[in-house]
Amino acid sequence: MIVTKEKPLEEILGFLMPHKRILIVGCDGCTQPPRGVREAKTYAMLVEMGGKLKNREIQCRTTTVAKQCDNNLCATTLTSQVKDIEAILSLACGVGVQTLSEVFPDIPVYPGQNTIFIGSQERESGTLYEKCKACGDCLLAETGGVCPITRCAKQLLNGPCGGQAKGKCEVGGWKNDCAWILIYNRLKDKGRLSEFTKFREQRDFRISQSPREINETEEKTEETP
Ligand code: SF4
Ligand code: SF4
Repeated sequence: MIVTKEKPLEEILGFLMPHKRILIVGCDGCTQPPRGVREAKTYAMLVEMGGKLKNREIQCRTTTVAKQCDNNLCATTLTSQVKDIEAILSLACGVGVQTLSEVFPDIPVYPGQNTIFIGSQERESGTLYEKCKACGDCLLAETGGVCPITRCAKQLLNGPCGGQAKGKCEVGGWKNDCAWILIYNRLKDKGRLSEFTKFREQRDFRISQSPREINETEEKTEETP
């Protein structure tokens, strides 16, 4: 899931202040915490109240899209709803905001969220953990399912470094587990320590050079026997 965090209301009001009719668009896709229509209604209330406190009347309407990162879904769901709209406040991740900006180039689209990371959720504690940096060359098969790119503070491919003590990492004040000690323990339990001692060459950073693109149509054609 894509983990996002609310932008401060003052910042959002700063974007919206020149506009009167706003459409607040939630996303029912992978954004966490959820940012659907219920959250859009909460934002609408806050923005309208915030506007009043600044002697400005802002009218908000609310809606949501199944996935804001899908340009077709955005166009079919929202085209009829943006006719008299002066600006859009998106509650999706940065990809959703950019998709809406491309689908509706004449309407300013503002982000309501800061996009933080790709993560997993631990429901019991309500904590979201960063787990993947979309590096383009997944190593999990040989690291016991622990990602060194995300979980090692120095993104080392051959660890641990001298900065670990009692399984903790020096970066961040010995709070986080050392990724390479986790990897060692996982591989040891599985009787696969030869993968731990294997030397991993420097990554080819060209494959994660931004901006990246994938043509789904070409990929499907190549897969067809
Ligand atoms: S190695 Fe880590 S960052 Fe790269 S794709 Fe796998 S989980 Fe994601
Ligand atoms: S102590 Fe472990 S997690 Fe921290 S930088 Fe060194 S190898 Fe990476």
